[in-house]
Amino acid sequence: MTVLKTRPEIEKMRASGKVVARALRAMSEAIVPGKTSPADLDALAARIVSEAGGTPSFLNYRGFPANTCISVNQVVVHGIPTNVPLEEGDIVSLDMGVLLDGWHADGAWTYPVGSIGKEAQRLLNVTEESLYQGIAKARVGNRIGDIASAVQKYVEKNGYSVVRDLVGHGIGRKLHEEPGSVPNFGSPGKGELLRDGMTICIEPMVNQGTYKVRTLPDKWTLVTTDGKLSAHFEHTIAITRDGVEILTLEA
Ligand code: MG
Repeated sequence: MTVLKTRPEIEKMRASGKVVARALRAMSEAIVPGKTSPADLDALAARIVSEAGGTPSFLNYRGFPANTCISVNQVVVHGIPTNVPLEEGDIVSLDMGVLLDGWHADGAWTYPVGSIGKEAQRLLNVTEESLYQGIAKARVGNRIGDIASAVQKYVEKNGYSVVRDLVGHGIGRKLHEEPGSVPNFGSPGKGELLRDGMTICIEPMVNQGTYKVRTLPDKWTLVTTDGKLSAHFEHTIAITRDGVEILTLEA
């Protein structure tokens, strides 16, 4: 059952979300092409979260072995941070959750490493905008399918595809809770009704080529089956009678 949050509870999730946003920005600013590795960024995120008094939500989640998921180029999501430096022209998706004072927030952003190609930049722009197209439909009285179809329409209109195997989710006292599925594809008017106090993660994963993905032998890393690029943008949001609020922002 979807747990609706009170205003004070949403306030707490906003505090967690601030730490997520701050850590993502700090990681992105720390990237030096040819030098910084995903493992360096993971350590930086851990430090920021711990200084804020929180814990990384992903560490040991179903056995995940790191603080953050860091996914480079054709890696869609759930990349385990490695010691291999990021290279000029890469795109890197940083995904992390923070548990603070009993409440989770979860966010992701894909960043360019140095200067990147035009097509890669367009993928980032379209994926980011698709997230906001979805958020615009997150209104009391709408349904999950309204969000899902808005994301899908925008992405496909721009010639890309949305990943089917992974979806957004409810969030709160648990990292993943009801609604168990906030997809990035679907039909308007379908799915769970959006109500005052719902907190969910919308997280389009957008591929340049096929939407099909496969898992590497490490059982975590998800890659595109055609080896083309993938991007991932995510916000934790609160849906209230007064409107939608993005909780994973710094200010
Ligand atoms: Mg998430």
